[in-house]
Amino acid sequence: MIIDLRSDTLTKPTQGMLEAMWSAPVGDDVFGEDPTVNALEQKLADMFGMESGLFCPSGTMTNQIAIRLHTGLQTEVICHKYSHIYLYEGGGIMSNSHASVKLLDGAYGKISPQDILDSVNPDDVHAPETTLVSLENTMNKGGGSIYTLDEIKPIKAICEQYGLKLHLDGARLFNALVESGESPKDWGTMFDTISICLSKGLGCPVGSVLLGNKADIKRARKVRKAFGGGMRQAGFLAAAAIYALDHHIDRLKEDHARARKLGEMLEQHSLVSEVFPVMTNIVIAKLAGITPAEMLLKLESEGIKAVKFGKDQVRFVTHLDFDDEMLERFEEKIIEIR
Ligand SMILES: *Cc1c(COP(=O)(O)O)cnc(C)c1O
Repeated sequence: MIIDLRSDTLTKPTQGMLEAMWSAPVGDDVFGEDPTVNALEQKLADMFGMESGLFCPSGTMTNQIAIRLHTGLQTEVICHKYSHIYLYEGGGIMSNSHASVKLLDGAYGKISPQDILDSVNPDDVHAPETTLVSLENTMNKGGGSIYTLDEIKPIKAICEQYGLKLHLDGARLFNALVESGESPKDWGTMFDTISICLSKGLGCPVGSVLLGNKADIKRARKVRKAFGGGMRQAGFLAAAAIYALDHHIDRLKEDHARARKLGEMLEQHSLVSEVFPVMTNIVIAKLAGITPAEMLLKLESEGIKAVKFGKDQVRFVTHLDFDDEMLERFEEKIIEIR
């Protein structure tokens, strides 16, 4: 048995999901004629009380399209220095949108209203124009940490005051919402655009949806075309997403419960100095007296896979294909490692 905790993107479609995919009605989505894609875009938009949605091949693409919508030459994006949009999207902010980035610090990957306020550039010939604030929820490199709605409200107020757009990289937003109990509709009122990943905890093979108002999503459709992301009979993939929204949201709590148990096991381990607070399905362990490469080798020899996450950290992510039996096995195996 291999226990693969490298990422929640590793899940394979369940039988129910495969059946939904096989039987999906499809058409050419570049012509706007795929009924299943249209249904998915409308379903997610309705869940968040937003006007429109756009199905894309990846969360990187939905984020990059949003950044393109809200920036341009000589503009600047404010985000955390650990943001996915900055660290893990191939330098796309620069190469797709030619925008500058202001990186902020903050515990567990979260940025404060005051730091944002202090980072809005003055209307001055020297400075790029600040046009966008981008947040991430849950925050991957912050250990799956959560923003609450009350933390977003003052940020939203600053954006309104200064005429800035507010984007949410919500790759794992449903992980945050099942924990906080907050409603998607309330979150929909806070942001100009939201990116939702379907291929993370929700367990789809492919896909992400960008949400926004009608005008923005119309422009986004054209940007997606230029990025090469217009797909044809994409309804087979959208059907997986509709199935996941109906069946895989509540169960994210199970992933979180298993992640908390993993966190407790790792906390007691002699080779671990610290575990980030486990808020959702991500567990980041800081190592003591061993490098990530050495630790990963030891784990691998016990049939456990994780990833290096910074110079002295490893990351474990729980997901749909990690069950209680594997959790027990993990507990037996982790004790063997010393
Ligand atoms: C996975 C992820 C994305 C998108 O990644 P893709 O692999 O391109 O779908 C965006 N933001 C965060 C925080 C992520 O974890």
